[in-house]
Amino acid sequence: MQNFIFNERIEPKKRAVNERIKDFREIYEIYNPNEAATQADRCVQCGDPYCHNACPLHNFIPHWLKTVAEKDLEFAFKISNESSPFPEIMGRVCPQDRLCEGACTLNEGYGAITIGAIETFISEEGFKRGLRPEFEEKLSGKVAIIGSGPAGLSCATYLLRAGIEPHVFERADRAGGLMMYGIPNFKLDKKVVQRRIDWLLEAGMKLTLGVEVGKSLDFGELLENYDAVFIGIGATKPRRAGIENEEAGIMAMDFLTNVQKKIFGDPYDKEKADVKEKTVVVIGGGDTAMDCVRTSIREGAKKAICAYRRDAASMPGSRKEVKNAEEEGAEFVYNVAPTKILLDDEGKVIGVEFVKTISTTTKDGQRKLEIIKNSEFTMDADVVIFALGFENTPLEFLSKHGIETNRWGAIKVNEHYETTKPGVYAGGDCYRGAHLVVTAAYDGREAAKAIAKRLKG
Ligand SMILES: Cc1cc2nc3c(=O)[nH]c(=O)nc-3n(C[C@H](O)[C@H](O)[C@H](O)COP(=O)(O)OP(=O)(O)OC[C@H]3O[C@@H](n4cnc5c(N)ncnc54)[C@H](O)[C@@H]3O)c2cc1C
Repeated sequence: MQNFIFNERIEPKKRAVNERIKDFREIYEIYNPNEAATQADRCVQCGDPYCHNACPLHNFIPHWLKTVAEKDLEFAFKISNESSPFPEIMGRVCPQDRLCEGACTLNEGYGAITIGAIETFISEEGFKRGLRPEFEEKLSGKVAIIGSGPAGLSCATYLLRAGIEPHVFERADRAGGLMMYGIPNFKLDKKVVQRRIDWLLEAGMKLTLGVEVGKSLDFGELLENYDAVFIGIGATKPRRAGIENEEAGIMAMDFLTNVQKKIFGDPYDKEKADVKEKTVVVIGGGDTAMDCVRTSIREGAKKAICAYRRDAASMPGSRKEVKNAEEEGAEFVYNVAPTKILLDDEGKVIGVEFVKTISTTTKDGQRKLEIIKNSEFTMDADVVIFALGFENTPLEFLSKHGIETNRWGAIKVNEHYETTKPGVYAGGDCYRGAHLVVTAAYDGREAAKAIAKRLKG
């Protein structure tokens, strides 16, 4: 260990840009065992590991780095799967630069350990060698889970490990939440998500697709028929720009979901997915905006422009994803705020009117945005996509059953992830507001532990 002096940080190879923009396959290759061992061997093995502390799941990162360096893959696989419900997904989608790798001691001067890529390697190499996640065989007690996103599936994983049967109810036609419809294939191959779901089904998870609790299935029925309920319904109500002709634009999730359906070969709404040979302007600067410009490029857009109201340094998403979007040909326009979508006489989108802005951060860290007077200008566009973030949807079935939400519509929970209705738990984006796969997975795990304690003592 500690070989960071001799070995530099080397990220896994990326597919060549001119190749990868022609398809939706993942862009990163997976390390081979020697590459993974060399990179893991750079770890300092800090006494109080910053990476472990910065990881929302508190993964035993230095432990699995040591075992990878020693080429004991079986043990690395075991500990990596212990604290994480699906490490092969987290390795691919976590914004490591803001979490574990951002906190790595070697970040200053040497380059952080490539923790995410090694995490993916451990699982994928393990699966190749026939290793599988382990679950209890005998199940007793049953818990209803509403929503099959990372919060719901993580909860199901840890219930299965505790010997409790989870029954997941999902309104969509496929399970996985935003890991299935949302995060594009080039970041997370849908076969990777489906493989985990299949293992959970094999282990005894029940799954009912195409049912919306509160509409086609009464929440009261779940309370009657199950020992506990976990709510993991996410927060996918798009935030609005409040500008003139906004309805002529497309919401990011409509665009990404319809393109994904097209890739699956399922029926989809062509109006919301057709960007071929068009100029696409994406309004927003987070990870969802990057996913939209990169998806547009792969779908044959003439130009994909990301228009963000602040400067480059203030972009809220992962640096890695901005860099990938730049490499793939996305254009960026900073310090601009849209004021209206421009339409021709037939109502077709022809452009966007913007005003210029100045973004500043005060000494005490407060961000300010000023609009420059008389700075209006227009940008040509055939398609406008809004990627302005997401909000919670206040649902009637929650208030009807005494489940309180805060003023932003997020479900209130106590330190055991129990809502204001005893026996009903919640976690993920419906409790935090739009966040991350890893934090949703943490909530699901902790709620499952609390439920297991309640049911089994
Ligand atoms: C485009 C996009 C890209 C992203 N990229 C990343 C990334 O790279 N890395 C990262 O860490 N995070 C990313 N995120 C955020 C991340 O996907 C979410 O924070 C995470 O999926 C939240 O998990 P969840 O389980 O709480 O909710 P969701 O994943 O939203 O799942 C909720 C599920 O509940 C279902 N549901 C809702 N209401 C009902 C009901 N009444 N009855 C039955 N089912 C219901 C929904 O259909 C959905 O399947 C991204 C988000 C988006 C939108």
